[in-house]
Amino acid sequence: MTQTEPSIFTRIIDREIPADVVYEDDSVIAFNDIAPQAPVHVVVVPKTADYRDVVELASGDPALLAHVVEVAKQVADERAGGEFRLIFNNGESAGQTIFHVHAHVLGGGLSEGTLGSK
Ligand code: 5GP
Repeated sequence: MTQTEPSIFTRIIDREIPADVVYEDDSVIAFNDIAPQAPVHVVVVPKTADYRDVVELASGDPALLAHVVEVAKQVADERAGGEFRLIFNNGESAGQTIFHVHAHVLGGGLSEGTLGSK
């Protein structure tokens, strides 16, 4: 999908907006969420703006989705003892606000069994 204007995440990737980057390679960037919902809350973002959500990414580039999961695990290994919750919001009513696919990695003292909050 071609977006008319760059998403906030594209602007972070292009270094137009500052972010606390914790991981980066050719295809993915990861940074601390500006409004953390857990002690560890990192957003893992494919650099391409071609996919608005994980459903599009899964069908369009499954290898890139697998890489996002791999990076999430690496971030969790480094910051949250290797265990984490991985969330993709899909659609406005599910809480998605930025339509450039991204995974939320939450960890470090999550409440047991709560799925409702990020
Ligand atoms: P969504 O609600 O689309 O699943 O996730 C978007 C996330 O991006 C939210 O958790 C929000 O706090 C985060 N976010 C929005 N703007 C910025 C920003 O400028 N910098 C950073 N680091 N995170 C942002």
